[in-house]
Amino acid sequence: MEHLKRADERVHRAVAGELSRQKGQLEMIASENFVSPAVLEALGTVFTHKYAEGLPGKRYYGGCEFADEVEDLARSRATRLFGAGHANVQPHSGSQANMAGYFALLEPGDRILGMNLSHGGHLTHGSPVNFSGRFFDVVAYGVRESDGRIDYDAVRDIALRTRPKMIVTGASAYPRVIDFEAFGTIAREIGAFHLCDLAHIAGLVAGGHHPSPVPHADVVTTTTHKTLRGPRGGLVLCREEHAKVMDRTVFPFIQGGPLMHVIAAKAVVLGEALSPGFAEYGRRVVENTRILAETLAERGVRLVSGGTDNHLVLVDLRDRELSGKDAEGALERAGITVNKNTVPGETRSPFVTSGLRIGTPAITTRGMGPDAIRTIGGWIAAILERPADEDAANRIRRRVGELCAAYPLYAELAAPA
Ligand SMILES: *Cc1c(COP(=O)(O)O)cnc(C)c1O
Repeated sequence: MEHLKRADERVHRAVAGELSRQKGQLEMIASENFVSPAVLEALGTVFTHKYAEGLPGKRYYGGCEFADEVEDLARSRATRLFGAGHANVQPHSGSQANMAGYFALLEPGDRILGMNLSHGGHLTHGSPVNFSGRFFDVVAYGVRESDGRIDYDAVRDIALRTRPKMIVTGASAYPRVIDFEAFGTIAREIGAFHLCDLAHIAGLVAGGHHPSPVPHADVVTTTTHKTLRGPRGGLVLCREEHAKVMDRTVFPFIQGGPLMHVIAAKAVVLGEALSPGFAEYGRRVVENTRILAETLAERGVRLVSGGTDNHLVLVDLRDRELSGKDAEGALERAGITVNKNTVPGETRSPFVTSGLRIGTPAITTRGMGPDAIRTIGGWIAAILERPADEDAANRIRRRVGELCAAYPLYAELAAPA
């Protein structure tokens, strides 16, 4: 980063600070990950200069032969990885991918049935503060109070009663397998579209560790930066019959020029995800998360649904005085980064909450395995038991630093000056 350092000292300092923050703490936000050096390199390329509105072979600008090449690579790798009929890799984010999915198949005012935000859904699944809640008539399903799991019979009842035009599946904070086939059956029964938002678990599905929604959904959207471990961005998969309308909806309906440097990086990560090593990564994520859940449960930490099948656990703090917000702060002081999260049956505000979402995708990318996870689980339990104990936080903070040094991140990137 010599150029940046010379040209803009302040931005350089912030980037260097962020690098050292990422290296020195335990990144356990379930939606974050670390990309490979190859992906990072692709992001910093001259493709950022290129306007390439349109699609490969059908652009509105000249000079697109190399843009066509990377976008075709990304598209074909995406369809191969997920076994989908068609892919559009241009959405700038997961939210844009969902916007494209909705507007390709629905009219404003149509009814969608999505998962309740406080039960694990996402803002784009119908929240009133999001475009999805503003443009569509929203009904919601949730999880059972008793076991924290989706109640498919209840979903079917709501669907039959409210007759949505689209059922939206997928979640941001659901620790269990989602039965996409059951949702697909309900959607077919009422003649609704099924849009599956795979943002969190795309990498697990790609690696074969979670059943795929592709045979059971009309549209599958995802981010590329969560368990898929690619650049920040989105993509849409759909059945061949929806290909034309989907492409038209991404551009020109909701977006302008695609981010070609990001698409180049998407092509790289989709290539990585097709390799056997990626399936092994996913297997280790699931194993690590299960061990984390067991370690926490042994220490008396309550988990929504009692455990996990995927890359995250949801800690239920409703039985404690400690809020999600204060727990997040206490863990951060000990060098462990997580996020507060609402839980089913939430009584506190979304800014305070009674839950914590904790994920292992990023620390698994660093190479941490069962032993490290047990140690980390013990630290988290200790902090939750004594959130105000500064000595304990400092002691754990030092040990976190040692653990991080033992699993170096981007050893090839120079240490910050
Ligand atoms: C993260 C997430 C998104 C949004 O992705 P952005 O890239 O942040 O817009 C959409 N849906 C779900 C389920 C998510 O978890």
